[in-house]
Formats: sequence, C-alpha cells, structure tokens
Amino acid sequence: MTKILIVDDSTTVRKLLIHTLKPKHYVCIEACDGFDALEKLALNPDIKLIISDLNMPNMDGIELIGNIRQNPQYRDLPIIMLTTEGSQDNRRLAFDAGANLYLVKPSPAHIILFKVQSLLEADS
Ligand SMILES: [Mg+2]
Repeated sequence: MTKILIVDDSTTVRKLLIHTLKPKHYVCIEACDGFDALEKLALNPDIKLIISDLNMPNMDGIELIGNIRQNPQYRDLPIIMLTTEGSQDNRRLAFDAGANLYLVKPSPAHIILFKVQSLLEADS
C-alpha cells in the first residue's frame, strides 16, 4: 500500500484529494500545516509522496519542503506543490526548496493522478 501525505489547511482541498487518490488504493494521510506534516512524516517514514499547499499557518509549504530536504532520508521523496499561487516567484521558491512539481489549483483530478503515478514510477 502506497502512502501519500496530503498537506493543506483547507479541509475541502484535503477531502477532494482523498476523493481522487483513494479509489486508486493510495493510503492518504492528512496534515493541516507544515508542522503537522513533519510530525506525520516522522510517524510514517514509509510515506512515498507528498502533496503540499503553499500558504498555510504555522509553517508554509516552502518552509516544509526545505525542512524535509534537510533530512538525507527524504532527499528523493517526491513532493508536489499544489497551490493557488501561480506566480513565477513562488514557482522558483518551491523548486529552490526542493519541490519536484508545481501545480496550480484548481488542477483536474486526472492530471493530479497522472502526475502522482508518474512521480511514483520514476522513484521506484
Ligand atoms: Mg492554504
């Protein structure tokens, strides 16, 4: 079973992503901000991919990715940033922090699924 960590301060966005991923038998773990995500990752070191929002309270997505990449264990963990922020500046910040992919909301479910599957295959 492939575990995916979904990080977003919006319950609605998390539910939508679960609705997309669960039928494909991905096990979804939810986190509501960067701090929560680091905690969930520590509890589930077998998480295979992360989808993270950018704007969140306490710790945003950029800081979260920076934190994750500092751990050699997670250097190659695929991370998708999924955000309403479409600017080039934010894109660059995300990639500099270590994101593998940058998607702008709303992204159609089939695109998200395709990207998730592609990143997981590239990683295995
Ligand atoms: Mg947000």
